[in-house]
Amino acid sequence: MAYSNILIYLLRKDLRVADNPVLHYLSSTPDHGFTHLLPVYVFPRLQMDLSGFVDDEDLDSHRHEFSARSRVGRFPRCGPHRAKFIAETVWDLKHSLEALGSGLILRVGDHGAALSTLVEGFKDKKLHVGAVWTTGLVGSEETDQETAVAEVCKDHGVDFKIWADEKYFIDDRDLNFGPPDGLPPVFTTYLRSVEPLREKPRSVLPMPVKSSLPAFLEESTIAPQAKPFVIPDRYDELEDALVRPVKEFIGDMPAFPQGASSAHPFKGGEAAAHDRLEYVMRAEVAKNYKDTRNGLIGVDFSTKFSAYLAQGTLTARQIHEALLGYEDGSAEGYKDAAGFGEGENEGTKAVRNELLWRDYMRLYHKKFGNKLFQAHGLKADDPQYQEGGEKRINWKTADESRASPDQSPDATAVGKILDRFNAGTTGMGLIDASQRELIHTGYTSNRTRQNVANFLAKHLGIDWRYGAEWYEMLLIDYDVSSNWANWQYVAGVGNDPRSESRLFNPVKQAFDYDKDGSYVRTWVPEVSKLEKLENVFQACTASEEDIKEGGLEGNPMVTDPVKKIQFSVEGKPRNNKRSYARRKGRGKQTGGEHDEKGEGHKDDGDDAAEAEASQGGQRGLSQGWRSQHSPPKSSHGPIDIRKLEGPLVVASHPKPTPPTGPSMNPESSYRAPANRAGRGGRGGFFRGGSGNRGYVPPNPTGRGYRPVTGRPMENRGVSSRATQTAAQPGVSSA
Ligand SMILES: Cc1cc2nc3c(=O)[nH]c(=O)nc-3n(C[C@H](O)[C@H](O)[C@H](O)COP(=O)(O)OP(=O)(O)OC[C@H]3O[C@@H](n4cnc5c(N)ncnc54)[C@H](O)[C@@H]3O)c2cc1C
Repeated sequence: MAYSNILIYLLRKDLRVADNPVLHYLSSTPDHGFTHLLPVYVFPRLQMDLSGFVDDEDLDSHRHEFSARSRVGRFPRCGPHRAKFIAETVWDLKHSLEALGSGLILRVGDHGAALSTLVEGFKDKKLHVGAVWTTGLVGSEETDQETAVAEVCKDHGVDFKIWADEKYFIDDRDLNFGPPDGLPPVFTTYLRSVEPLREKPRSVLPMPVKSSLPAFLEESTIAPQAKPFVIPDRYDELEDALVRPVKEFIGDMPAFPQGASSAHPFKGGEAAAHDRLEYVMRAEVAKNYKDTRNGLIGVDFSTKFSAYLAQGTLTARQIHEALLGYEDGSAEGYKDAAGFGEGENEGTKAVRNELLWRDYMRLYHKKFGNKLFQAHGLKADDPQYQEGGEKRINWKTADESRASPDQSPDATAVGKILDRFNAGTTGMGLIDASQRELIHTGYTSNRTRQNVANFLAKHLGIDWRYGAEWYEMLLIDYDVSSNWANWQYVAGVGNDPRSESRLFNPVKQAFDYDKDGSYVRTWVPEVSKLEKLENVFQACTASEEDIKEGGLEGNPMVTDPVKKIQFSVEGKPRNNKRSYARRKGRGKQTGGEHDEKGEGHKDDGDDAAEAEASQGGQRGLSQGWRSQHSPPKSSHGPIDIRKLEGPLVVASHPKPTPPTGPSMNPESSYRAPANRAGRGGRGGFFRGGSGNRGYVPPNPTGRGYRPVTGRPMENRGVSSRATQTAAQPGVSSA
């Protein structure tokens, strides 16, 4: 190799060869000047458990150095479902690049260190590295990676370039405000500023043709992975290295419920992403999306694009292009789908709207930075939310050192509640079903995500970040902006103008969206024998006889629910306006900037109605509505909530304000459910990566909700996102 000018391309969340600006530029620009291209993917130490890559007999003594843990709950940052999905994604990318005549090398650790090893290796071999390129990301850890890479480049006199991330719906460069500072405070205003949506996305970039990229390097010229890590050669070994350590944390899960199936059975990778896109168009998933998107069961109630978008194997503009081809009748492959060639329909329009939400969450993150990870979020600077302020939220925590002195229940009890919340044994059917679905499959619907988040933050008043971190660990589609911004929004500390009143009744939501109870019965088989729907949705309301018949005697979901919501399917509403039927567009009645529920809003009117129903319930209570436990007659099988008379009464919430101390059965004495026996009353299916005792809510000194490994909390595991940042807020509250 007489002369070399190597370009190192660090891929991160742009794991695709099609519609990839970097690869497109290289394949279509003859005078780019590079002789070689080295695509590199680094499994990041801060965000994944890398202990499976350590070839070290003495691993146990320093496993924590390689085991990234979240900040508040000390959970693995990337659980088994996403770890596998990422392994599949990266392997697929390697194949795609090889098919183009290029390749991909895998590294683990820190981006800066990995790059440094490579550049020095080339230098030793007298090979010249001309530039390092990467695609820019939002998030402090991600920008820290960029800073570290920039420093290595500077030290070695190598050019460093950050490319725009083009996987979003609307390119930042086409916004008519200066992102991120000019981002409108509410989604609706932002939406108006970019309409008509259908005309906004840029065109998709063509895929490079074979042999159009600069040559790949001979393996002997590439410095090997630095110790103590070893990179496997085979896919099964790679998957094992990524999945095994975090699977151990989850431990022995209860058996996958009989009859249940994953709503997200899809593999990672660009090829799978495009298969799904084609299917969504051909099978009319997109066309029907507006009507089905609040579904809970099955693969087709929503697109399932999220995990592909998160890894950048699919871009929003590729989705838009497919929608256009269907709408305009130019994509012959979709010709058998209803509505083909008939222009934009309600379904395709709603898909675009959701993709715009994703853009918005990213811009929001870009604008507000690490406020995304603060307990008081965007409200942190508002005096009303500060210590002594009238809206101050004293989030309950399982960490005794951070709990306020008058916290009730105490930190130990909150730890136990969290344990049950995570495991899906709270006794609140919809919440439990969703949490179990998540553990088993890595996916749960948007509808249940909203309920789960609302339940933790608004009903239990627990620091919502435990939930956000639990999702970060388990979601296949975890995306830092979408996850944290959504959690913050639902917890009432984001930019939702109606955040204080947005209280969901999970029992009513179950009646609305799980009409025959099959979702809850599927994922919570213990309650499947209960006949009455209201009992399925809240097992503690069942009669003694039904509990006995259902085999639920002594089950804490019945004897000791984490939260009871008084609820009635009887009684007369005060007037017909307060029926349960969803009233589409209701939120618009509030109008203007304060109507954050525009067409296609993620809460799409149902939640607005829900929030109103909660308020209505309160009004109703004070106006004398009756609160009843259960109707005298209720039959197993579908119940049409719209045919039931009377309001669903939320009696347990004195006022729809941020939680300052909602009741959580403080006297609750947690007992292990039957399937958790043999582990001293807890154990269950959570287990620490370094042994069998991880994920113990409180340690003997009651200091924190965390795996027990015998080391002080602050030194355990690789610290997470927020602890890396100088401006990092305290853990308990902002
Ligand atoms: C508490 C909570 C946590 C969430 N965490 C994540 C996360 O980590 N990653 C993630 O991608 N989504 C997250 N969402 C948003 C949403 O639930 C998922 O995007 C959606 O359920 C994924 O399924 P789908 O691809 O079939 O979505 P569809 O309903 O088919 O929507 C199409 C696409 O639009 C985007 N989208 C839809 N809703 C939202 C939304 N509310 N916010 C941002 N983008 C949206 C997604 O990219 C999605 O793939 C979260 C929502 C809540 C309430």
